[in-house]
Amino acid sequence: MEGLFHEDLAALSDLDEQSLLESLSQRFKQDRIYTYIGDILVAINPFKYLPLYVKEVSERYKYHEKSKLPPHIFAVADRAYQSMMGRLATGRRNQCIVISGESGAGKTESTKLLLRQIMELCRANSQLEQQILQVNPLLEAFGNAQTVMNDNSSRFGKYIQLRFHNSSVKGAKINEYLLEKSRVVHQDEGERNFHIFYCMLAGISPDDKDMYGLLDPTQYRYLNGRYGSEDIVRKWGEKYSEVCNAMDMVGFQEQEKVDMMTILAGILSLGNIMFEPTETDVLRVTGKSMGWLKATAGQFGVQEEELLRSLTCTLSVTRGEAIRRLHNQQQAEDARDSIAKVAYGRVFGWIVSKVNELLAPNVDFDVELTEIGILDIFGFENFAVNRFEQLCINLANEQLQYFFNHHIFLMEQNEYKEEGIEWETISFKDNKPILDLILTKPIGILSLLDEQSAFPQASDRDFVDKLNSKFKSSPHYEVVRSRSPLFTVVHYAGKVQYNGGGFLEMNRDTIPASIRDLFINSVTPLLSVLFAATISRTGTLMPRKAKVMQKADDNFNSTRKQSVGAQFKHSLAVLMEKMFVASPHFVRCIKPNGNKLPDQVDNKRVMDQLRYNGLLETIRIRRDGFSWRPSFKEFAQRYNILLIKPDLPLTKESCLSILNTTEIHGWKCGSSRLFFKYWHQEELSRLLERL
Ligand code: ATP
Ligand code: MG
Repeated sequence: MEGLFHEDLAALSDLDEQSLLESLSQRFKQDRIYTYIGDILVAINPFKYLPLYVKEVSERYKYHEKSKLPPHIFAVADRAYQSMMGRLATGRRNQCIVISGESGAGKTESTKLLLRQIMELCRANSQLEQQILQVNPLLEAFGNAQTVMNDNSSRFGKYIQLRFHNSSVKGAKINEYLLEKSRVVHQDEGERNFHIFYCMLAGISPDDKDMYGLLDPTQYRYLNGRYGSEDIVRKWGEKYSEVCNAMDMVGFQEQEKVDMMTILAGILSLGNIMFEPTETDVLRVTGKSMGWLKATAGQFGVQEEELLRSLTCTLSVTRGEAIRRLHNQQQAEDARDSIAKVAYGRVFGWIVSKVNELLAPNVDFDVELTEIGILDIFGFENFAVNRFEQLCINLANEQLQYFFNHHIFLMEQNEYKEEGIEWETISFKDNKPILDLILTKPIGILSLLDEQSAFPQASDRDFVDKLNSKFKSSPHYEVVRSRSPLFTVVHYAGKVQYNGGGFLEMNRDTIPASIRDLFINSVTPLLSVLFAATISRTGTLMPRKAKVMQKADDNFNSTRKQSVGAQFKHSLAVLMEKMFVASPHFVRCIKPNGNKLPDQVDNKRVMDQLRYNGLLETIRIRRDGFSWRPSFKEFAQRYNILLIKPDLPLTKESCLSILNTTEIHGWKCGSSRLFFKYWHQEELSRLLERL
């Protein structure tokens, strides 16, 4: 295959940042968007249609030999599936595919291609296969939105686990992480709300529109009055039928769909409620928004007065006495927005748990299932203003980088050490200290945040002051001199300045009891279920205990409810536990330019991504490392024929005498196995062929 050399960059001899960049960009210019670095796949987003995923290609990549075909995302699917089946040397076990890259780099597209190809590979039973394939469009409608970085940006992270028995798929499970709920009430310039709102408004029939009480899209504040050209509206409309279709396929009930749409309509109306003070300092709803208040109450299935009350005042119980505190205008607007956020967040969480319920494997409990997990999680973020959400996202990325380092560098080097092989340690940026800075108990950033969140009186300033005093001498923390509560974390991918404003509130994420009561009493069945239930850590909905228990439960919840930071930390830990015992496959997505345009490479941008992906160091270790490590027995069994002595004992001595008859150099002998460079395997195969 002429012109295709450097399909595996681990084979580059003169290796530096420049040559890595050059090779990738040369290949990219010939529409070769995929390249291997050893067993890592680098994928550069083409931002245009390429005939790379047609049926014929999909067939060609089934059960193929990796080195015989150009690098491809389908090859990763094949490898993961074959490994899970125990058809490759690694033995049968769970697999995980980790897809990383910045926003718009192509993670979600890669996820979908992997899912599709894996379904092809296992020739899934058609209904379950269709259900699994429909999960993505469904989640995308509710969890994706247009951002400056990506027209279809995932505003949540997900881990999709495909469950198999022998070779056939039996079910799937999804874990979702950190939906960006704030988008429901606010979008920055050039961004939009979640797709589903536009789809619904464009695709719904006039009759249904009346039934849900929906008006013209330009009327809604939460949509910023923006909608789009006729062309765009037509696309939204088509998408709406796709989403409805997906819901049917996955198995949602008609009533559930209706309820869901009604809640979404309610969220839109709620956003238009505005407040003004009266002479007596009591807040009232502006004349113009009286209609919206009525509409919202109708859509949420709650009493108008109760809705108004939960917006304009807080009820708190102190020493057995109920005290009503009136809101000022800002507080009322905040209450309104937090109702919208919590309602949307619950709908999303409910969709995920419903999907999990519908796609749970239908097998006896003692049937052993193996898994392929695919992780599609937000890349590292560094914006003009970075909030609590960014800290969580960047923490996830630190954790993934650690996993990657661990796999690529530490495990490899530890093995050399154990086997007594000389090995000049390859330096890599170990980010464990940064993880510790954020995660350690009792004095990591998150535990200090929890500590402060427990004090009702504490302010964001107090929190940042605490951080400053604890971490001022840490090499990964920088104090920022400012009147705003700012602090800087030196992440593996660079410095990020966080604005501590709102950290405590975001971390607590409490719903006032009055709002919960309001919704529990809703006549919309789905709403009352959503609020009468707590969503468990595993993502399934758990009905609350009987109503009599409610009070006790409330007390429990208000004192013991886990903070957002603690929950996220926990779900990351669960994820890592799964990943550390699986065989990993890495896909590194690269965004070639910031304009979402085809055939353009912005060298600086790409170089930055290569650097913080640790790709250069990876090439070095792949090239200098010993990627093939057969045991003495394994090696002798296969190659004793080179000595024409089939009855050779399967020992170290036999291996050495076999190897000494060849011209192969650069291998090493450990205490229980041999160590070869990746090209040695080919040299040995050639010798076998010559026999
Ligand atoms: P985010 O973190 O914002 O969710 P992402 O990494 O998931 O970003 P994608 O949504 O997968 O990014 O990709 C962004 C866009 O790039 C896609 O909508 C599509 O237009 C284009 N794209 C990505 N991969 C490919 C591909 N293999 N072929 C053609 N276009 C692609
Ligand atoms: Mg995405």
